Amino acid sequence: NDTVLIAGAGHAGFQVAVSLRQAKYTGRIALINDEKHLPYQRPPLSKAYLKSGGDPNSLMFRPEKFFQDQTIELISDRAVSIDRAARKLLLASGEAIDYGHLVLATGARNRQLDVPNATLDDVLYLRTLDESEMVRQRMPEKKHVVVIGAGFIGLEFAATARGKGMEVDVVELAPRVMARAVTPEISSYFHDRHTAAGIRIHYGVRATEIEGKDGHVSGVALSDGRTLPCDLVVVGVGVIPNVELASAAGLPTASGIIVDEQLLTEDPNISAIGDCALFNSVRFGEVMRLESVQNATDQARCVASRLTGEPKTYDGYPWFWSDQGDDKLQIAGLTAGFDSVAVRGSVTERSFSAFCYKDGKLIGVESVNRAADHVFGRKILPLDKSITPEQAADLTFDLKKAIA
Ligand code: FAD
Repeated sequence: NDTVLIAGAGHAGFQVAVSLRQAKYTGRIALINDEKHLPYQRPPLSKAYLKSGGDPNSLMFRPEKFFQDQTIELISDRAVSIDRAARKLLLASGEAIDYGHLVLATGARNRQLDVPNATLDDVLYLRTLDESEMVRQRMPEKKHVVVIGAGFIGLEFAATARGKGMEVDVVELAPRVMARAVTPEISSYFHDRHTAAGIRIHYGVRATEIEGKDGHVSGVALSDGRTLPCDLVVVGVGVIPNVELASAAGLPTASGIIVDEQLLTEDPNISAIGDCALFNSVRFGEVMRLESVQNATDQARCVASRLTGEPKTYDGYPWFWSDQGDDKLQIAGLTAGFDSVAVRGSVTERSFSAFCYKDGKLIGVESVNRAADHVFGRKILPLDKSITPEQAADLTFDLKKAIA
């Protein structure tokens, strides 16, 4: 059977299909899509789309004709179970499809806020196009939003809402913004920028209850006893990977579907990629699950390469971006384990990078409005080369020469 069946038509699923055809794969390719839209880009959902006129077509990877031309079947359905022995995928409609290889690209879903009244009508999330459209439509009629969670999505939304003139409070349990993902230098910069724009950020507190009046949101009660009045709540408290399809089929899962360094599950006929995959990274010597477009699309390319006869160890180098207000944050590498930081550029001029070091070696570059530093990071880091912190901080030091 030469059918490659792909469960999930997000960034990862779409890219596998495209890369297979680019590699001249001639077998059947079918994408199981459980959203009612053509496959679309997620990053704009918390950024540009909220400011736009709401045209979903602006988000689509490709028009419908592309799928027809490439003979990529788009099946509007949901995968509900896998019969591994018979190599069949069962869909919610009752249809069962035989596969030669199955790619699980089921992504992740919102972690739900678990407090009283969290299901009130004006408590919204930002993961899907439908959710973003709902937020976009509600914003003009609302005055005051409480954003729960100061991660990338919460802050991107907060900046957009403030830009539209809303009152904005952000509630964050950690002592700084984006605490799990970036260095204190970057957190501090974004704290200052968001606060200067008029956003109030409340650290070290959690939402304990959504308060409602006549079925509508009226405030968010906090763990320190205060209540923040509001008429809209947007929740960005992280995601849960969609592993259930795999685990019900007996495939090992933990905080993701467990795959090896080639992104294969325990079953040689099933791969898993993107937000749902917990992969064994040879480069970093650890298992990890990443949530980024880079990870989803590079893993898709890696699997397509294996399925067209060129097996590879997955070696994509992590990078990420986040647009918040007028600022562009770009991250190259994994900076979590840093022990020291060298700053290049000027915080006051809103153009700087945090070069992150561990044991004297460069492990990542976090850049604010400094695309050239980001590009440098993406070039030097995969080469396993480094520059010294002194060189990084010295604006007369020519980064290009270091990678020549
Ligand atoms: P997804 O894109 O989540 O796609 C998975 C798809 O599978 C979904 O359509 C889901 O409905 C479907 N599915 C699940 N279960 C089934 C099933 N049983 N049957 C059929 N279909 C199923 N990353 C960046 O790098 N930069 C950014 O600026 C950025 N901004 C973001 C902003 C927002 C608002 C969000 C939500 C994410 C953002 N990300 C960003 C992260 C990035 O979008 C994700 O990492 C990426 O979408 C992961 O791709 P994926 O295909 O693994 O999962």
